[in-house]
Amino acid sequence: MPTYAYKCRACAEEFELSRPMSESSAPADCPAGHADTVKLLTTVAIGGRAGGSPGAAPSGGGCCGGACGCG
Ligand SMILES: [Zn+2]
Repeated sequence: MPTYAYKCRACAEEFELSRPMSESSAPADCPAGHADTVKLLTTVAIGGRAGGSPGAAPSGGGCCGGACGCG
């Protein structure tokens, strides 16, 4: 089961969850219980696409955190 990294935008906590790929974009509550989290890029390579968007930043503000559904 792949591991996904998330970051809480409420307390800036970074945490990881092991979950099925089908749930990779599902909301993840941070350990402190906040629901305002974003999914970070994972280091686990699972047939992913090469390259990436030039505007992708590792620290929040990204579009692909699940809020806009572009992922
Ligand atoms: Zn939090």
